This record gives sequence, structure tokens and C-alpha cells, in this order.
Amino acid sequence: MTNSVLWFRRDLRLHDHPALAAAGAEGRVLALFVLDDALRRPSGGPRLAFLYRTLRALDADLREHGGRLVVRRGRPERVVPAVAGEVDAASVHVSADFAPYGIARDKRVEQALGDVPLVRTGSPYAVAPGRVRNGNGDPYKVFTAFYRAWRAHGWPAPVRSSAAGAEWLTADSAGIPNDPSEVTLPDAGEAAAQAAWRRFRRRLGRYADERDRPDLDSTSRLSPYLKFGSIHPRTMLAKLGPSDETFRRELAWREFYAAVLYFWPDSAREYFDPKLADMPYVTGRTGDARLNAWKDGRTGYPIVDAGMRQLLAEGWMHNRVRMIVASFLVKDLHVEWTHGARHFMRHLIDGDLASNQNNWQWVAGSGTDAAPYFRIFNPVTQGRKFDPDGTYIKRWVPELADVDGADVHEPWRARSGRPDGYPEPIVDHARERRESLAAYHAVRAQP
Ligand code: FAD
Repeated sequence: MTNSVLWFRRDLRLHDHPALAAAGAEGRVLALFVLDDALRRPSGGPRLAFLYRTLRALDADLREHGGRLVVRRGRPERVVPAVAGEVDAASVHVSADFAPYGIARDKRVEQALGDVPLVRTGSPYAVAPGRVRNGNGDPYKVFTAFYRAWRAHGWPAPVRSSAAGAEWLTADSAGIPNDPSEVTLPDAGEAAAQAAWRRFRRRLGRYADERDRPDLDSTSRLSPYLKFGSIHPRTMLAKLGPSDETFRRELAWREFYAAVLYFWPDSAREYFDPKLADMPYVTGRTGDARLNAWKDGRTGYPIVDAGMRQLLAEGWMHNRVRMIVASFLVKDLHVEWTHGARHFMRHLIDGDLASNQNNWQWVAGSGTDAAPYFRIFNPVTQGRKFDPDGTYIKRWVPELADVDGADVHEPWRARSGRPDGYPEPIVDHARERRESLAAYHAVRAQP
């Protein structure tokens, strides 16, 4: 019977947790979470608040079984060996991290631990990034091919693990900080994630038809739970049948982008397609004014403004609307995608480097799958198609609540006139579209 440390990171749950199963099999376990400033600083209040609530829920779950979550603040390469020393741990267990910072951090911790092994079991993904490769051993750059290979590779069944399966150790804890944000958040923690998954499974049959409709709010909203590992994708995949292909594909996008970031860590900041780095962007005062109007949801384009205001209010935005607002920033306002990606990472409670940066690159036309640059979303027709009655727009843009019928998508054309307090369109879409296409063709034509 030996002691070990289970260092929680993006696996804040107790069921289907391979690293917990591995630690529990060795003997007594100390549950540790490290508040790491390097991760806290870029996180933004809403995501931190959601994290802290998730930690409180995990602590409560552990206490039911005689344990507790020991929280310490500091650099992991100092804290983890110190805690391991305090309980005379024979090993430190983790779920493997495949993001650039996590890989480097774990190497430092491993070195600092000396003779005490850092044991990696499982990861936040059904298939660990790096595993799925083509016949030549190369990574996939195109999702469809990745998806086929990912499915053929397959994944293990959920793992049996629970708080009851371990004998828990305790130590001094710095406690979980107070929530730094007042944003309305979904319930946090494993029980809330499982409940959200159960609720969504009842609607799964409608997902393929309705997932693009922000007014119906018919997606799973599981992304914040997946971000922090309150539920594992394997738990969900195990319940999907042959008719749930559309949802399985969405989970696979998350896996694909984690793999892209693993193979190309620079894709978090640099253009995957370097040619696109030469696109001309609006900067200076005009650039700032445009960026701020976009951030505040005051562009005069209703579906864009609704999405940006949902982001500020809930720390979350519907996927279709994320695509529309991102396209608008890059292709209508000509502001570089990195500014939008940074704003998203500050406000999204599901903010995830791999999914966020790669989706932004996709929209900007510079990413792996490179959405064709000439596919420029028209915010008016997108609104009409995916929010036909304007229900979503009116939910987030109260100035437009009394605008009749289809005018809600073009309030500047409303018979009753543009409502007081709602701005005029910041740019003319048709004109900006032409400008974007011209710039794009010029960049592509370069040798
Ligand atoms: P559902 O439709 O229920 O999908 C289930 C799960 O599949 C999601 O929770 C998510 O884990 C995964 N998924 C679905 N679509 C995608 C996708 N395009 N890329 C990667 N994974 C996907 N997702 C994040 O988790 N974090 C981000 O920071 C993030 N930033 C984005 C930025 C932009 C510009 C865009 C266009 C998309 C971004 N997404 C991000 C992807 C997607 O918008 C969200 O995962 C989705 O809206 C979450 O809602 P849901 O859980 O209801 O999704």
C-alpha cells in the first residue's frame, strides 16, 4: 500500500477517469489542483469563475468519500514535488496533456520530481492527439480523412472509476478563490455535466436538422464541461448509435484540432497557410474603433450583435453565430483574426486553444481545412436562414424587440425606421466583400 498524488488538470471528474483508476489501484491518493498563474492570466473572469465552481463541485464530491481537493497556488514544478514530498508519494498520476504549454510544463515537473515518476494515463480525448496518422505516418491536414482514420482507430470503452474506489489522503489547502465574474454561468461540475448530457440525449435525434439554428438552442452546450473534463468524450461516444453520425463528427472536430495543435504548435499564433499572413488589415484608430464596435455588439448587423452580446452575457455563443461573427470581423471589418481569437479566449467559458485558434484560422481561410476564402458570410442572409423569426436576435438585442417580421435582419430598411439606440451598419457588406476578395486574389497571385 503506497501513497500517490493525483494531480487534476483538465479532468475534473471522478467517473470514467483512467488516471484515478491507476492511482487508486496503487493505494492511498491525494487529490491536488495547482492554481498556475501562467494559465490563470490569459483566462478571463468567466472561464475562471466556471473553473472555480467546477473545483468546488469536485471538492464536494470528494468529501462525500472522505477526501478533499487540495488546492495550492504556484509554479507546478515547485508545488507538485513539494506536495508529493509531504505525503511521501511513490508516484504522481495525471491525464496526459497535449497542448504546447502543458507538454513543456509536464516535462519541467517530471524533471523536478526526480525519482518519483509522473504517470500519464488517459487524456482529454477519445484518441490521444498524435495517434491518428496516414499510411506514411504523417498527420492529417484535412478533417474528412482524419475522421475516417479516427473512426477506424477506435477508442476504449469508458473506464470504471469513482471516489469510492480510492482511500483519500489530505494536506493543507489554500482553498478555491472567489468567483471573479458575475456572468450567468451554467451549473458546474460532474453531476451538472452528466445531467446536461442526459437532457441532450433526449434531443439527439433532432441535432442533425436543428444544430445550425441559434433560435432553437438545440446543441448540447457540453463544450464548457468538455473543456474542463467534467465529462469525457468517451462517455458520450459509448452511447452514440449509427444514426448519431452528425454529433460524432462534431466531437471529432475537437479531436482533430487537438491533433493539429499537437503536430503544429505554432498554429496557435501563426498562419497555418503563410500566404494569408500578407492579407492587408485595417489597424490604427479605425481598426480599434471597428474592433470595439464588434466586441460590444454594436456593428448595426443584428445577428453579429446578438452573438457578441451573448458572448458577453453568458461566456458562450452558438457555433453558427461564432462563424458569422468571426467572418464579419475578418472579411467585413478587415481586422486580423488574432484580435478576435484573443477576445473569444477572454470571454468563452469553453475557451480552448486548439479549438479556438484553429476555428479562427478556418474562418480566416488560413487554416488546415481552409474554408475557401471566397465563402464570405452575408450576415443578413445568414440571419434570415438560421434565425428566421429573429427570435435569437430579439433575445440579445432588445432595441430590435418591436421590429416586425424580416425587417429584424435589416433594421435600416424597417418601414417604421431604424429603432432608437440601435446603430447604423458600421460598413456596407457588399462593398467590403468585394474588397476582401480583391485582396485575397492579390495575395494568392503572389509567387
Ligand atoms: P455541439 O454542437 O453540441 O457539439 C458537441 C461538441 O463537439 C462541442 O461541445 C465541442 O466539443 C465539439 N465541437 C463542435 N463543433 C466544433 C468545432 N467546430 N471545433 C471543435 N470542436 C467542436 N469550441 C470550443 O470548445 N472552444 C473554443 O474556444 C471554440 N472557439 C471557437 C471559435 C470559432 C471562431 C468558431 C467558429 C468555433 C469555435 N468553437 C470552439 C467550436 C464550436 O463553436 C463550439 O465547440 C460549440 O459551439 C460548443 O457548443 P456545443 O457544446 O453546444 O456544441
